[in-house]
Amino acid sequence: MVNLTHTLSTLITANHILDYHGICDAFGHISVRNPLNNNTFYLSGYLAPGLVSSPADLIEYYVANGSAVDPNAGRGYVERYIHSEILKRFPEQNCVIHAHAEAIVPYTITTVKTQSAYHMAGFLGQQVPNYDIKDYYNDTQTHDMLVRNSPLGAALGELFHSPSNTTNTTSIDHPLVLMRGHGFTTVDSSIETAVYRAFYAQANARIQTTAIGLASAFGSQGTIDYLSEREQLDTSVWNQALWDKPWLLWVRQVERSPVYDNSLGPLVTNTSGATGT
Ligand SMILES: [Zn+2]
Repeated sequence: MVNLTHTLSTLITANHILDYHGICDAFGHISVRNPLNNNTFYLSGYLAPGLVSSPADLIEYYVANGSAVDPNAGRGYVERYIHSEILKRFPEQNCVIHAHAEAIVPYTITTVKTQSAYHMAGFLGQQVPNYDIKDYYNDTQTHDMLVRNSPLGAALGELFHSPSNTTNTTSIDHPLVLMRGHGFTTVDSSIETAVYRAFYAQANARIQTTAIGLASAFGSQGTIDYLSEREQLDTSVWNQALWDKPWLLWVRQVERSPVYDNSLGPLVTNTSGATGT
């Protein structure tokens, strides 16, 4: 049964998880489509993710144009168009995460390609697109790297789909898109699995960077053996079946932390890991 309270509680806790693991700092954001109305979504107002604590901190926006449902809603994120445009472009997706994770940013400004370095990140696929916002600015706009309007958000959203896939024009062919000199954005059908992707994308970047450093110690003899396409596909299938295991751990970590508050109550209600509010 659709439960908006549970969805919003999960969104608040997901904000905390992204903060706890350094995927977001004071910046970055996560949205969820309204389970009762496909045409709107929820996103924190102008607040660091670690400080989001109640539905009053959230703003409901229209998917169509990123405007607030309540015209008197408080200050929101400038980059809410990342969320509105991706949720509009991909109606089967329900959660968008955008962050400036430090381990990932180097891959947005160098020619080093992001690769799946281990089995937890096969979902990255053979190609991770890099959104270069300077390709989409016009001269009258500020060039501050921020996705400040719908056209810039739509251009980012388009990179999640492969133009060669004409069979399903709303499929996510690239689950994660880098953003030059900025960070990354990822999307999935649920909050839990989108957080999984963000977490392991950052972990993968750390491992890949370490591997590159080790391999370089051997000069031209150094090699790195990344996952093959087949291994990426098969590990992705495996990962999709076990996202709940890390999720329950991450929920417990933030719920037991004195840093975070969730006025809608705990998601983990017993030691068997059942969730609900
Ligand atoms: Zn940003």
